[in-house]
Formats: sequence, C-alpha cells, structure tokens
Amino acid sequence: MKNIYFFGDGKADGSASDKNLLGGKGANLAEMTNLGIPVPPGFTISTDVCQYYMEKGVYPENLERQVQSSLSQIEKIMGQIFGNAENPLLVSIRSGARLSMPGMMETVLNVGLTSKTIPGLIEKSSDERFVYDAYRRLITMYADVVMEKAANIEPAEGEGIREKLDEIMVSLKKRDGAKIDGDLSAQSLKELCEMYKSIIHKTFKCEFPDDPYSQLWGGITAVFKSWNGKRAESYRNIENIPHHWGTAVNIQSMIFGNMGADCATGVAFTRNPATGENNFYGEWLPNAQGEDVVAGIRTPNPLNHMSRSFESGNRPNLEETMPEIYIKLDSIQKQLETHYRDMQDIEFTIQNKSLWMLQTRIGKRNGTAAIRMAVEMVEEDLIDEKTALMRVNEDHLDEIMHPMLDMNVEKQSKVLAVGLPAGPGGASGQIAFTADDAESWHKDGKQVVLVRSETSPEDVHGMYASEAILTSKGGMTSHAALVARGWGKCCVVGCSALTISTKNKTLSVNGIILNEGDWLTVNGSNGKIYTGQIPLKDVNLNENLYFNKLMKMTDRHRKLGIRTNADSPEDAHRAREFGAEGIGLCRTEHMFFDPERISAIREMIVSNDENERRKAIMKLLPYQKKDFYGILKAMAPHPVTIRLLDPPLHEFLPQEQDQMQRLAKDLDISADELQSRIENLHEQNPMLGHRGCRLGISYPEITEMQAQAIFEASAQLEKENESPFPEVMVPLVGSLTEFVHQRKIIDSVAKRVKEESGTQFKYLVGTMIELPRACTIANQIAEEAQFFSFGTNDLTQTTYGFSRDDIGGFLPDYLERKILPHDPFQSIDKDGVGALVKMGIEKGRAVNPKLKIGICGEHGGDPKSIIFFHETGLDYVSCSTFRVPIARLAAAQAEIQS
Ligand code: PEP
Ligand code: MG
Repeated sequence: MKNIYFFGDGKADGSASDKNLLGGKGANLAEMTNLGIPVPPGFTISTDVCQYYMEKGVYPENLERQVQSSLSQIEKIMGQIFGNAENPLLVSIRSGARLSMPGMMETVLNVGLTSKTIPGLIEKSSDERFVYDAYRRLITMYADVVMEKAANIEPAEGEGIREKLDEIMVSLKKRDGAKIDGDLSAQSLKELCEMYKSIIHKTFKCEFPDDPYSQLWGGITAVFKSWNGKRAESYRNIENIPHHWGTAVNIQSMIFGNMGADCATGVAFTRNPATGENNFYGEWLPNAQGEDVVAGIRTPNPLNHMSRSFESGNRPNLEETMPEIYIKLDSIQKQLETHYRDMQDIEFTIQNKSLWMLQTRIGKRNGTAAIRMAVEMVEEDLIDEKTALMRVNEDHLDEIMHPMLDMNVEKQSKVLAVGLPAGPGGASGQIAFTADDAESWHKDGKQVVLVRSETSPEDVHGMYASEAILTSKGGMTSHAALVARGWGKCCVVGCSALTISTKNKTLSVNGIILNEGDWLTVNGSNGKIYTGQIPLKDVNLNENLYFNKLMKMTDRHRKLGIRTNADSPEDAHRAREFGAEGIGLCRTEHMFFDPERISAIREMIVSNDENERRKAIMKLLPYQKKDFYGILKAMAPHPVTIRLLDPPLHEFLPQEQDQMQRLAKDLDISADELQSRIENLHEQNPMLGHRGCRLGISYPEITEMQAQAIFEASAQLEKENESPFPEVMVPLVGSLTEFVHQRKIIDSVAKRVKEESGTQFKYLVGTMIELPRACTIANQIAEEAQFFSFGTNDLTQTTYGFSRDDIGGFLPDYLERKILPHDPFQSIDKDGVGALVKMGIEKGRAVNPKLKIGICGEHGGDPKSIIFFHETGLDYVSCSTFRVPIARLAAAQAEIQS
C-alpha cells in the first residue's frame, strides 16, 4: 500500500480529492502545491497508516524506509539535512483528519533541534535568541504532546507539564523584568531550556530526546495516538464524526515567522467569517510562530484596514507594514477562493520576506455569514443556487433566529468591557470559571457564562454547556472563537480589560470585582459585556436581506409545502412571515386553559347529563368563534387545519382544593358529589383512553359546538370578503365508522350555518392518521375523508408502544446501549413508523389519487425526517413556527439531493 504522499517544488502525489486518505490538511497542501502556490515541501502519512497502527499497535513494515526517503526529498529541495550539524533541516509534525477538528489533535514544531544542530542553526541564522526560542517551544510541545498526553498521563488540573513549564517562564520573565516572551534574552532562553529539561527529567524520569529521529518518531506516534485522545473522542461524539476514520500526519519543512523583523505569521479568511462580508479578513503577528496567533497568547494585529476591531484598531496592519507581501497574499487568497469556490481559512508564514502558505481549508462560519456568503456567491456567479442551498444548514438558520439583547435596555446599561465579537447573539448567565463547573451547573438547570483567560480543547465540554463564552485573551481565530463559531454560540474573546483569577474565582475589571455565580450578559455581536441580566429580544428576520433572498431561493427548489402548527392569530401571523403556507395543525384544546374558559370546560366534563353538558359547552362557543375568526383571517386564503378536541379530559380537571370548591359551587352540587364524579372519570391509561374522536362520539355536542364556531367564523369572514379555508380534522380515528359518525355531525352543522348566514364557504373534513390501524385501513378511510394528516407523535407512541410522556425514563439507556440509534419522537423511525406512513399514503392514494396528505407531528420540523417525507410524496409538512424556515430549507435540500 502507498503510505506516503509527497508534495513540494510544484508537484504533489495527492490532490484535494484525496481527503479521506490524506486528511483535509494534507489534501489541500497537495492541491496548493499543484496550483503553484508556495508551500513548504513535505509529505503526508495516510489515514490508512493510522487505522493500521490503531488496529495492530505497530507500523506497516516499510514505513520507516518510506519516511526516510521522503525526508531526503525535502532535504534536496531545501538544501538542508535533517540532523546535520552545519546545515540542519527542521520539520513540523501536524495532524489532519478528514474533517477539521480545531485544536483537538496534536502538533509538534521545530523537530530536529538537538545539542548537535543548535550551533549550526545559530551560525546560519546569526540569531542565537531565535534558536533558543525555537528550542524552548519544541521542548514544551514535545513534553506536553509526546511525553505526557501520548503516554496517557493524566495530571490533576493545573499540574500538567505545560503548566509547570509555563510557570518557570513566568518567573524567569519576572526576574528579568520582561513584559512579553519576546523580551527574554538569548541567554535567559538558553537557561530556560535547561530548566525545562530538568523539570521534564524530574516529572517523567527520562531525558528529553536529543536525537532528531527519536523526536521525529515520537512526534508521529503521538499524533496518531492523539486521534484516540479523550478530548478528540468527545469532540467526535458531539460532532458525530466516525471514530474509525483516523488522522493523517503531515511532516513539513519548518518555515520561521520568528526569525526577525522581516518575518511574520498570520491566519486569514477570504471573507469575513462573522458577517459574511466579501472582505479579506485576518490577523497577523510580526516575528512570531503560528501558534502565537491561534493559541490566543498574544492579541494579534489586523491584517488590513477591513480587519480592524475595537481591540486591534490602532495596531500596525500587514497591508501597510509589508505592502509587497500583502499584495502577493491577497492574490493567493483570491486564487484559492476562486479555485475552491468557497470561503477559505488560510495560514501563512513570512520568513525573511518570503511568503509561504501553510494551510487552506473551507472556513468555518456562523449562521449570519453562511447565509450571506451563499447568497452573494450566487450573485457573483461563483456557485449555483443548488450549491448555495446545500451550504446552509439547520444550525445556521437556528442561530440567526436566536435572540439578541434588547437594544433599548442595552443602550441604557453600562458597558463593563469590550472584546472581540466572535459569536453573535446575546446571552446571560452565571459566571463559571472552569469547564467542569459550567457543565455541572448546566446539568443543574442553571444558565452559565464560561469565563476563561483563554480556552483550550480541554474546555470543550464546558463551552458546549454554556450560554456564552468570554475570554480575556486571543483573537477571532483563537480556539474559543473557532469552536463557538462552529456551534453558533454567543462568544466574546480577547477582552483584555478583564483580570481573571481562576484560583480565587474572581473576575476584576475597572475596579469592579465579580465572583463565581454572579450574573453576566454577553453581546457576541458587538463584543460588549455587562453585569447582571439584560432581557433578550426576538430577531426581526424581515430586515435580514440575505435571509430573505435565501428563503426565496428555497421556494424555487422545493416541492413539499410548508405549513405551521399554530393555535393563535399571533403565531399564525409570525408563521406567515416565516413563509408558512397554511396551518397544518391547530390544537383547539390549547385555547381552553384561559381562566375564563377552563371553568366552562370543567363544568362540561363533570356534567351528569347531556343537558348540563350542552349548557356548559355552549359557554365556550363565543370564545372559540373568536379564536377561529382570528386564525382563519390571519392565514386566509391559505388552509387552516383545525383539530377537534383531542386530549384526555382529566388534563382539564381541577387539582387544588379551592378550585374544587368553586366548581362545586358553580355546578350547585356538594363537594362529595363532585369528588365522586371526578373519580368516575379516572383512567388507568388516559393516552389510550377516552380521548380523540372517542370524545366527540360520546359527547356529540362538543363536535357540534366546535364545528359551529369554525363555520360561523368562516361565514363572518366571507361576509367581510375574506377567503377563509377551514379543514376540520377528526383526531385519533381507528375505524371508518368513527370518522363517518363525526363527519355527519360536521357536515350537518355546516349546512345549517350556511343556511342561517346566507353565505357559502369552502371547507374540508379529514382525519388524522395516528394509529397503526388507521394506516392499515387507509383505503377505507380515504373513501370518506377529504384529507389525511399524519400525527407521527401518536403514531410513534402506538407503533413502538412507548409512552410519549414516559420515554425519558429509559431513552438514555437505550441511546447509550445503542438499542435505538436516536430518539424516535425527534427523528422519524423510517423502518417502522415510516413504513406505516408509506402504507397509509399508498392505500389512501390508491382510492383517491388527489388525496391531500400532510404530516403534523414534531417530525415535520426535523430536516432528516423532512427528507424522508419528501421521498414518500407527501404534499406538505407542518412544524412549529420557528422551524418553518428550517423546514423550507430542508425541503429544498431534499429535492436537490433526490
Ligand atoms: C401527533 O400525534 O402527532 C399530533 C400532532 O398530535 P398531538 O401531538 O397533539 O397528539
Ligand atoms: Mg396526536
């Protein structure tokens, strides 16, 4: 098998299409090399080797020889020799999986520096300080990655080797009066390296390796092992990345951005990843190594005037500092974006005025940016509409629909500090200083803001559990910013005014001290933070030009109709704004919980005879009529599916003593009498009991009243020249006779209202298909019903025999033990419930090919289920209001993929 893929000098063995084998980084390094872009020569050890190593614990037989020969190729191109005393070649070792896993796996730089090669490099670079700086970085990374992590040593929090070495650095800086790392002299750095080595010896009981090949193989093995590291594994679990993929390893000639004033390093995006604006956007640091920018240890400078921010505004930008190089970089970034037809996230290093590209990959972006870029790239003819639609996902839309801080309250609040706006939206929470606290508080139901000086991949679980993330260090490409952006989380980074003490659990800023548990509000859209809580406000999507253009695009590509589940005129209005083309489910019982109405419904439930019941139920007529009037009007001329009363009646019964007394008084009966009537209503399994159409069959007056309210509202709207379109839906039908019984009542009320009002109105009578039996006799039901709507919540409940309300008791065990692949109430079970849906559609349409069929269970807002419903040939899906845009996009994607 071919284990190694070389790239350098304008030629590469692999290309961008080899991501599975070479990982994203390796494949793109090969592609850039082939494009003639300056890339330091190197080679990629394939993911196959990682899989082989994970399985067998050893490397393929010939790997060592192949590494040796590839190294010689680098040596030839660079004119340097690995381990040579006079002219040493140094290499970097980096991981690179198929999908980017920011910071989850390991990197070791400056490999090949030993007591033998150090003098040669000093001689060559005439810069002793640079060489010892590179050496101390190698020692730190190697000790952390190879000697600790790859050896499975798990030190206590704060006791890791990296922390120990950092402590020595801090005390040495104090001794020398050095403000930043760069102030340390060559002599001090040399001393530091010796101190590092002795701590390493003390900690690990072995020496830091002084042989270049031990360093090389130690690094390669550590990168492979890091694939199975704890944080990489938990990241893969969160992101659903398969564990068997493995990582590739990239070994590349070192290029130094820290060899003097004509050196630099930076990270950039071909468009702004936070706003989507088509501006080259990035950060750089003069005389620094790449890790300085990404790790957030120094707050970097803006790349150009477009990349300025509150924090970095006045610092020198690359455009003005090194104009010739900037022009080259700008032309490369344009070349890359045009070539890949997507926004690229690039890393570069400048060594003695020569520009080298170290990485390019598809850039992560937040929702705002994803939508804007997709739309603008279509307008620029860079991509077609289908590609644009496939680039936006559920989370992107979800995120831009997330609440922002109430602007009016925010304006009046005193800004505590300002950092970089790394993840948009607003959030409030209680301050937690460690990721573990954030996670456990979140489990206790608290809202948390995680505050760290900088985050590391060890913090991801706490970041995930937090409402917002705030750091005092780091830039827009720091770990915190990248991870938050990927998740669409509210995040502010590089807020340098903050002094954070994780030890004392305090945060101080401008003389104000905040403690653990205090409330903090973060505005991730402008970088401002505030003490206390600021209320959040819904976003006005109407003002989002790109969102609206994208939504129009979805409509040009989808076949499925999108409706909403809504029970009030306000929800109906909002859903229409989101693009709903009707209401697929109006649950009438939601209208009964109003205090005025609940007493009437209670009277109805406990009535002893039809007379009493009719009297009580008719009290509800005016309320229902008003509700239906508002909803039908808000949706006209689109259809509104109104479901007749469905839930078990006990849900409405009084629980408190004073409510019981009031009800007894209203009914003019004794408390004992009421008690006994309520006891008579008790059911063992209410969800399988007296509910759905069974209510309307026992108490036809309920159906009559609801039908009357619907049709009187329609008649009134007709008179007002509106075009109401009610679809009356009978719930929980299991046999044709049930449906026919109810339909007769509904039709006769319609006839009566038409006569009394002297108006005509259109309406349909159909049924919910939410019992397995209804699916199997759908052909019979379709003879009489004018439409079907699948109630996949109850259908899932009755197919699996899992109670909707009690599944929480065992679902976690089922998911953990992989008995179920996912919660079937969230995403449709295609094999079981889905098969019944298909059967229902086939049988129904066999009788009536034009039968209108939709789905109104929760699955109607789940993109995976929407793809399935698209395939089954449903007419529409109906989902909660806020999921309408997501459903529109998913429906378009389903069509594009089919
Ligand atoms: C269903 O059962 O899928 C449904 C939409 O009805 P409900 O959730 O109100 O039972
Ligand atoms: Mg139901």
